[in-house]
Amino acid sequence: MHKEELWKLALGEIELSISKANFVTWFKNTHILSMENGHVIIGVPNGFAKEWLENKYRSYILKALQHIESGVSTVSCKISVSSDTPREPSVDAIISPQKSLRKASFKPKSSASILDANLNPKYTFENFVIGGNNELARAACYAVSQSPGRIYNPLFIYGGVGLGKTHLLQSIGNEILQKDPAFKIKYISSERFTNDLITSLQTNKISDFKDYYQKIDLLIIDDIQFISGKEKTQEEFFHIFNYLYQLNKQIVLSSDRPPKAIQILEERLRSRFEGGMIADVSQPDFETRVAILRKRAQEEALIIEEEAINFIAENVVNNIRELEGALNRVIASAQLTGQRLSFDFVSSTLASLISSGKKKGVSYKDVLRVISDFYEVDINDLLRKNRKKEVVKPRQIAMYLLRTELNFSYPGIGGKIGGRDHTTALHAFEKITQELALNEKLQEELKFLKERLYSL
Ligand code: ADP
Ligand code: MG
Repeated sequence: MHKEELWKLALGEIELSISKANFVTWFKNTHILSMENGHVIIGVPNGFAKEWLENKYRSYILKALQHIESGVSTVSCKISVSSDTPREPSVDAIISPQKSLRKASFKPKSSASILDANLNPKYTFENFVIGGNNELARAACYAVSQSPGRIYNPLFIYGGVGLGKTHLLQSIGNEILQKDPAFKIKYISSERFTNDLITSLQTNKISDFKDYYQKIDLLIIDDIQFISGKEKTQEEFFHIFNYLYQLNKQIVLSSDRPPKAIQILEERLRSRFEGGMIADVSQPDFETRVAILRKRAQEEALIIEEEAINFIAENVVNNIRELEGALNRVIASAQLTGQRLSFDFVSSTLASLISSGKKKGVSYKDVLRVISDFYEVDINDLLRKNRKKEVVKPRQIAMYLLRTELNFSYPGIGGKIGGRDHTTALHAFEKITQELALNEKLQEELKFLKERLYSL
C-alpha cells in the first residue's frame, strides 16, 4: 500500500478515537515520510507536534497503522517542513465541512486569565485515614499546609495508583484555602500543564503563561512523571520552579515513582525534585483498609454489617480506589434490589470480582468462545463494529465478563473488542450490571456462562 493511502486510512481511524479539537490541532499537516522494515516515520510541522504526537498519541498512531498494515512495528516523528511535503492526505481532506467550521471556532482555552485553584473540596485531611502506609506522606503534607514554603520545598510524594496521592495533594490546598482564601493556589496535572503550555506557545501567549505561574504561592503538580521525555515542558517548568523556589513559594509534586526512576528527565530537574522532602505512600494494611471502609460508611450513613466490611477489606487489597469501587458496587446493588448490606449479600455480590478468572487461567478468547457458542453469534461479529441487535447484547456481556472475571481495564476491554473506546466498555459494564439486578433470566444466563467458562 502507498504511504499516502495508508496514512489516510490511519487518520480516519485516529479521528474516531480522539477529540476533534485534538485531531485537528495535532494531525494537521502530517504525513508519512518513510516506511522501512516496519518502522514508520511521520513528518510533522514543528517540534511541539513531534513532542505531543510521540508522547501522547504514539500508541493511537501505532494501533491505527497496525490495523491496516500488520507489519508496522514502531513509529516516530520527524520535523519536516520541506516544500515538497505531500499535500494529500491532509486532515482538511478528511474532515467534513461541518467539522471544518468547528475547527474555525475552536479557541484554545487560555489558562492564564483567571486563577482557579482547581481543587476538589472533598479531599481534606479530616477524611483522610492515617495508616502505616501513608503516615509519613500525610505528616509531610500536613506540615506543608501549616507553613507553606518554609519547611519542605519541594515536597515530592510518590506511590502506585489509587493510594491517596491526589487526595493528599489537594488536602494541602484545601487546608490553606480555608484559613486564607486569598492564598494563590494552583493544582494541575502535569498533562494539563503540558497541554496549556503548548497552547500558549501556539497562540503566542507564553509570557501570559509564565506570568500566571509566577504569581502563585502554592503550585501543586500531580503525576509529574508524565513530563518524562517532554523537553520543552521540562525547560519551561524548570524556570517556573526556580522562580517560585527563590521566592520561597511552595511546590508540591506527586509521581508514580521516585525522581530517580523517572525516565528521560533532565538532570537539573531531577536534582531539584530530590532537593526537598520525598515521601512515599504504599499499599494499606488490613486495619487501614477496614478503617477507610468504616469512614466511608459513616460519611454516607450506611448500615453495613461488621463482617461485610471485613470481607471487603480482606479481599480487595491492591489499592484504595478499588476498595472504594467495591464498596460502591455493593451499595449500588443493594439500592437496586432493596437489600441490606449483610455479610451474605456483600460476599455474594463481590464473589465474581474476587474469584477472578485470572487465577484459573481463563483467557479473553475463552470468554469470546463461550459467548459465541451460547448466543450463537460469530466471534468476528462480536469483534467488529456491528450494531445488529443480535450481537449487541452478547458483546456487552462479553465486555462485562472480561471486567468481572478477568479484571480487564475498560481501555483494555475496548482494545480487545474491536478497538473500541473505553467509554463503550464502561457503558456495557454498567448496562449489564443494572440489568442483572432486575432480570432473573439474565442472572441465570450469566451463572451458566461462568460455569461454562470455568469448566473449559
Ligand atoms: P492516587 O492519586 O494515588 O492514584 P487518589 O488520591 O485518587 O489516589 O485516591 C483514590 C481514592 O481513594 C480517592 O477517592 C481517595 O479519596 C481515596 N483514598 C486514598 N487514600 C485514602 C485514605 N488514606 N483515606 C481515605 N480515603 C483515601
Ligand atoms: Mg492521582
